[in-house]
Amino acid sequence: MTIVTRFPPSPTGFMHIGTARTALFNWLFARKHGGKMLFRIEDTDRARHSEEAVVALINSMEWLELDWDGDIVSQYEQRERHAEIAQQLLDEGKAWKCYYTAEELDKIRKDNGGFKLPRRADLEDLKKYSPAQTNTYTIRIEAPVQGSSIVKDRVQGDVSVENTELDDFVLLRSDGSPTYMLSVVVDDHDMGVTHVIRGDDHLNNTFRQNVLYDALGWDQPTYAHLPLILGPDGAKMS
Ligand code: GLU
Repeated sequence: MTIVTRFPPSPTGFMHIGTARTALFNWLFARKHGGKMLFRIEDTDRARHSEEAVVALINSMEWLELDWDGDIVSQYEQRERHAEIAQQLLDEGKAWKCYYTAEELDKIRKDNGGFKLPRRADLEDLKKYSPAQTNTYTIRIEAPVQGSSIVKDRVQGDVSVENTELDDFVLLRSDGSPTYMLSVVVDDHDMGVTHVIRGDDHLNNTFRQNVLYDALGWDQPTYAHLPLILGPDGAKMS
């Protein structure tokens, strides 16, 4: 098997030390195994997008002498493919249309102290809160409710959560734009990524991303979540 890692920063500012270390570990692992390290710019957040930051990321990688394989991929340019996958999951009955607005969901949570998540499984109970708006919706995955899920992490070991802790997270926003959670899985799959090496602030996302891999019948990558680099104050070091 050819090892394929990836470096997928969001271009929202200058490269910080943790990002550089993540790039280094992905690069070292790929080079050690004669594999590839791909470079993807996660530029789906158009409001925070900065071309200057993209240039700064590329310059930083060059300055660090960390080379990558192939062309730099823009996540934003793959957005139609991401939307197609959301539609496919909807057609297969693995995702659902959620007509509640953010304000309505807030109210439902408030009224039901502790009720945090709109799950398809809860729709029956939520009937009395029929959404006011019926023409716009988000597409949400239906995550499993029973049992538990395990991430076999190469750094953290086996980490498990009860599936009741998962949520039916949004795949496609009401304006039709894909979320990070959907885009990252589709891109990693399409780019043939075998190893996801990233900061452990993403470990929670991994459980949700695996819901998508399973729903799509795709192999999950191998994960390695690295401890973050923190300053003496316990905050992420920038
Ligand atoms: N774009 C994400 C970030 O900069 C990376 C996500 C990932 O590694 O999956 O935090």
